[in-house]
Amino acid sequence: MSENASEKVSENNGCIFCKIVAGEIPAAVLFDGENVLSFLDIMPAASGHALVVSKEHFATLLDVPHDVLKDLALTIQKVSAAVVKHTGASGFNVLQSNHESAGQVIPHVHFHIIPRFENDDLNFNWVQKTQDTAELNAYANEIKESLK
Ligand SMILES: [Zn+2]
Repeated sequence: MSENASEKVSENNGCIFCKIVAGEIPAAVLFDGENVLSFLDIMPAASGHALVVSKEHFATLLDVPHDVLKDLALTIQKVSAAVVKHTGASGFNVLQSNHESAGQVIPHVHFHIIPRFENDDLNFNWVQKTQDTAELNAYANEIKESLK
């Protein structure tokens, strides 16, 4: 473990993903890149359920610098292809949660890659609502203001 990794762990209150990155906790590693680590989830939703995390501690998607985000995206694609190939899955989900209200359990940005099969028991369903077109367009315009 490098001194740098040790500092990061102490800075982040024993964050489990920082500990995995630092090699303090073992993990079934799939990919070890400059900015990104991928490993199998120890409590998988399905066999082959993988995680992709930044090596540096960032709490949410909104905290990740662009160069790291690019590496995360490319790694998600690469690992997804490998998981699908190996498991023979007919589909896969990429899930990412930000903050407790969205179900983020570990406050270190991470992406789930979950292989899917016809009639598996996994559910990520929500109740679809309808929204008036004028209301939808007005809301889009309001959000667009926040993009500026
Ligand atoms: Zn962390």
